[in-house]
Amino acid sequence: KKWFPLRRTISEVFQGKRRWVRAVDSVSFDIRKGEIFGLIGESGCGKSTTGRLLMKLEEPTEGQIIFKGEDVTSLSSTDEIKKYKEDVQMIFQDPYSSMNPRFRVRDVLAEPLIIHNKTKDPYEIENIAKNVLNEVKLTPPEEFMDRYPHMLSGGQRQRVATARTLVLSPDFIIADEPVSMIDLSTRAEILHMMKEVQQDLGLTYLYITHDLSTARYFCDRIAVMYLGRIVELGDADEIIERPLHPYTKALIEAVPEPLPGKENVIKELPIKGEIPSAANIPKGCRFHPRCIYAQPECFENVDDPELVEDSNGHYVACYRYKEINQEVEKI
Ligand code: SF4
Ligand code: MG
Repeated sequence: KKWFPLRRTISEVFQGKRRWVRAVDSVSFDIRKGEIFGLIGESGCGKSTTGRLLMKLEEPTEGQIIFKGEDVTSLSSTDEIKKYKEDVQMIFQDPYSSMNPRFRVRDVLAEPLIIHNKTKDPYEIENIAKNVLNEVKLTPPEEFMDRYPHMLSGGQRQRVATARTLVLSPDFIIADEPVSMIDLSTRAEILHMMKEVQQDLGLTYLYITHDLSTARYFCDRIAVMYLGRIVELGDADEIIERPLHPYTKALIEAVPEPLPGKENVIKELPIKGEIPSAANIPKGCRFHPRCIYAQPECFENVDDPELVEDSNGHYVACYRYKEINQEVEKI
């Protein structure tokens, strides 16, 4: 069921003094109701910008964002925009900086209700706050209601941040690196909690991350982004077991081995050089300067390779993906 397609969106973001940058270039995907969709890539690939576009924190210069059959980019009345901003919530990377340090947990949870004119009734607010704290397993809720953010652990803060997105009963939650600032030992626990909440309440998530290993555990489907474009898209397990794009292959090789005591060892990407600036996109396949499979056709071609369907629901954008994957199979 197609429910949340983002069609041919181009966002131009002003950067520096002279240049316009295409942070997101002709990105198109559908998120299905009730799934967890992952957007994966290195920093600067446009994944956070895509999240901000979906949140209506930025407007695309081209394209449509369809939510429940309506083009979000053309919502005009304040009421429509307000309704959308209740339906779609965001969990940010750093729960500490996204929370007012002078707010108790009860105030953090009451704020969206007050801003959105939902209720001023203290009993109702108290009830909703307790419900959402139960939902994120901060129990008993009474024990957490009067704490300030500094009296919570990183994991507890991210639970409060998750609880805060729930008070307006949204349908869709965008989580931008929700666990990257949390202690390694509590990350799985927090993702597990988020998944339980998602299943419990029938929510749909967009999970934005650079971390393929959590994406595999967490997501139903993923899209891999490179310099503003999607290079591969499909079922999460399928992409990790059978990556077709050279960039995805490199990302997977870079996932650290789960050796005890070595969890922090990030291997270097088996690709050449650094990610180029979005202000200076290479011609042809924009991955070519870093690709170990690049051939003249990859940069003599002026256009980016299109995303094509290889097998059921598995898409890839590479001129040479068939040859490359045949070579791999022979070895
Ligand atoms: Fe590499 Fe060419 Fe494929 Fe781009 S099109 S990923 S440069 S092989
Ligand atoms: Mg980011």
